[in-house]
Amino acid sequence: VRSLLRDPSLFKEQAYIEGQWTNGDGRSQFSVLSPYSKEYLGSCPDLDINTTNTAIEAAQKAFDDFQHTSARQRMTILKNWFELMREHEDDLATILSLENGRPIAAAHAEIKYAASFLEWFQGEAVRSYGDSIAASAPGTQVVTIKQPVGVVGIITPWNFPSAMITRKVGAALAAGCSMVVKPAAETPFSALALAELGERAGVPAGVLNVTTTQKNIADVGKLICEHPSVKKLSFTGSTGVGKILMQQSSQSLKKLSMELGGNAPFIVFNDANCEQAIQGLMAAKFRGSGQTCVSPNRVYVQKGIHDIFIQRLQQAMDTQLVKGDPLLTGTTIGPLINVKAVEKVERLVSDARSQGATVVTGGTRSSGDPENYYPPTIVRGMTHSMQASKEELFGPVVAIYPFESQQELLQMANDAEVGLGAYVYTDTLNQAWRTAELLQTGMVGVNTGVISDPVAPFGGVKHSGFGREGGRIGIDEFQILKASRHLST
Ligand code: ADP
Repeated sequence: VRSLLRDPSLFKEQAYIEGQWTNGDGRSQFSVLSPYSKEYLGSCPDLDINTTNTAIEAAQKAFDDFQHTSARQRMTILKNWFELMREHEDDLATILSLENGRPIAAAHAEIKYAASFLEWFQGEAVRSYGDSIAASAPGTQVVTIKQPVGVVGIITPWNFPSAMITRKVGAALAAGCSMVVKPAAETPFSALALAELGERAGVPAGVLNVTTTQKNIADVGKLICEHPSVKKLSFTGSTGVGKILMQQSSQSLKKLSMELGGNAPFIVFNDANCEQAIQGLMAAKFRGSGQTCVSPNRVYVQKGIHDIFIQRLQQAMDTQLVKGDPLLTGTTIGPLINVKAVEKVERLVSDARSQGATVVTGGTRSSGDPENYYPPTIVRGMTHSMQASKEELFGPVVAIYPFESQQELLQMANDAEVGLGAYVYTDTLNQAWRTAELLQTGMVGVNTGVISDPVAPFGGVKHSGFGREGGRIGIDEFQILKASRHLST
């Protein structure tokens, strides 16, 4: 990997605790392989609970001072860090593409997106205001101030190895928190490269700790949840793990943010701009080969536009999706993260088929492809009795459900345990408003396939979790509001 980088020192194979690169007790390591070629990329220490405890204590020690830094100081650190990410975008994108399998152009897009959170929160650091309130009794004032919550535990997934970290870390740092970050074992190197740049940007030792672990994750996760010094847990991952973490956090009554799984409906009404809807779907569905929590999982197309939509979608997929080595510039679709992910997609497609759905294109793996590759696929004639309507496909499969009326559509679209992202395409204003308002999700893209933006609050409802990241309120998640009542007479 190092030979591919301009700055080889960005590729770290150690954890980062209290400003030091470390192997923990050095007893155990885990390997990271390319999801595309299965080549060995590097290894990281498989830290246990003792070393994690050291990281938490280091974070607590650092917090004692860091909480008293000025917001302007934290703004400057974030600004430096943002600029370093932009400066090293090529290397960060290469590391990300290698460990995640994301095509290089998309990896660059993620690095830009990830950096934009540091940029955004540099501004929020100094614009986090309290209130002054005239109290009930005469001569009495209430003033509220915002203070950092304390040490934050951050657990992130492999599907956005860089952005899921900056979205949390940027806000936590802006607020004045210290943190222990546990990246996914599939993609630790993006997180470690960020830590190296953080150090160069002036993040004080102990404020940002990055611990790596693979086989000890359940114990390490439990420790982070139960540790009394950790005052807040910010998690992005599956609904199942989120529920375990919430339960484990109950004894320490931790403040929580849970960004969990989705099952996004993508709705195309008869009057939609068909071309725009197809481009929106292409962008939302095939980003990360469909492995994102806001990836359209159920595509509802109204009957009047249904057949032509499928025909044009297939044309767009044929011309725009180029498989191949993720590091090559022309590649636009990469592999899935591992064989288990491929098998899940196969299971869901085969279940749909057995219940009467039809594969329009794709649907079968060819022997010449890498083991983790699943071909871009369209399945039509989907119904809600099929398992793919309930579970995330997390792969490059467009599952199309026909519908007739808006009422029927809303019933189907809201027939989900989770509610994170949704998309609606229509040229009728009141239909757009009404649908967007009635969808049971935390976010809706109206005539756009892109809903994430550092300025917008990101998060879900129902079993997609709670808490919001990014936007004006993203920093609130890492703060406590203190009210003081003052007698002025
Ligand atoms: P995914 O399906 O995206 O891998 P997971 O919820 O399994 O979703 O993983 C998201 C993050 O949660 C990863 O960093 C993973 O290592 C971590 N994780 C998995 N199991 C646990 C657990 N029991 N406790 C704490 N973290 C966990």
